[in-house]
Amino acid sequence: MTKSNWNVGWPRFLAGLFLICVIFCIFVKYYNHDYMYTNQHTLKGKYEFEGKGLHTGKKVHMMVEPAPKNFGIQFKRSDLGESAPLVEACVDYVSATARGTTLDKQGVTVLTLEHLMGALYGMHIDNALITLDAPEVPILDGSAKPYADAFSKDGLVEQNAPRKYLVLDRKVVCRNEKGSEMVVLPDDHFSIDVMIDYNSKVVGCQYARFETDTDFVKEIAPCRTFVFLHELEPLFKYNLIKGGDLDNALVIVENPVPQEELDRLAGIFNVKRLERVPEGYLSHTSLRFQNECARHKLLDVLGDFSLVGYPIKGKVIAYKSGHSINTTIARELRTLAQKQFRRRWMEQ
Ligand SMILES: [Zn+2]
Repeated sequence: MTKSNWNVGWPRFLAGLFLICVIFCIFVKYYNHDYMYTNQHTLKGKYEFEGKGLHTGKKVHMMVEPAPKNFGIQFKRSDLGESAPLVEACVDYVSATARGTTLDKQGVTVLTLEHLMGALYGMHIDNALITLDAPEVPILDGSAKPYADAFSKDGLVEQNAPRKYLVLDRKVVCRNEKGSEMVVLPDDHFSIDVMIDYNSKVVGCQYARFETDTDFVKEIAPCRTFVFLHELEPLFKYNLIKGGDLDNALVIVENPVPQEELDRLAGIFNVKRLERVPEGYLSHTSLRFQNECARHKLLDVLGDFSLVGYPIKGKVIAYKSGHSINTTIARELRTLAQKQFRRRWMEQ
């Protein structure tokens, strides 16, 4: 080979290498993740959690364990005896959405399941049996972090059955009188964009995004539920958060309040001293992310969308979302999925 051949060959070789790298990166970003989850998954081990229900205040022991393919996610209330039916994590059984999502099947209830369900859905876990000895899933630290940390430590087990995706062929829109709006658009992948606006100086307008390559365990699971200080006292007064304490929520203090008022609250919550930090939150904790509130709302959307019963290929855009609108649109998506699978079955 002459020297001039070398000079012509190198640029071509480098250009080819660059092209291969670009193709590889595109493959990893857009296809590899979905490819990994074309089959169903379950947990590797059994996981136990102890805590109390946010709304009932009842102590609860919860076991999350592996389940066979096509089992889905089902809840067992061990305190009601063997004759009590299992409750499928399905939007058909949603009976209430005030400050949490409640399922009710033939009088067997499961309350505040959205953070646990968000963890299962965000981590692509299709099949699991959840046993509770009380009606409500423990609130723990108000996020999905304890679940995500436990499940991710051991990894998952791939099962010999394909996931059945709901593939949207049209846009689905839902609005409500509170100014909330959700749109789900056809797409090759699942993604969620959440925007929140409480007309609050402290929270401001926040935005959060989840897509197939988002690290759910690190980016979304740790985000805690939140409450405004002015909402807190009435909730306590009307016994709506019997299990609420300052360890399981961010408390937003919109305007400065007199220290005597904060001292009185410290007494109610049994903590030494409370202050309003300059960012506008109560001093018992610090923010895990600047947009922790929007990320938590995203976790709630994941949890409520898991009740569709099928993983979704679609782009979700949520503005001021809440459990009511989440489950309303989840119900519509489930109806679409059932029609789609019936059609596919008839065409076979
Ligand atoms: Zn929540």
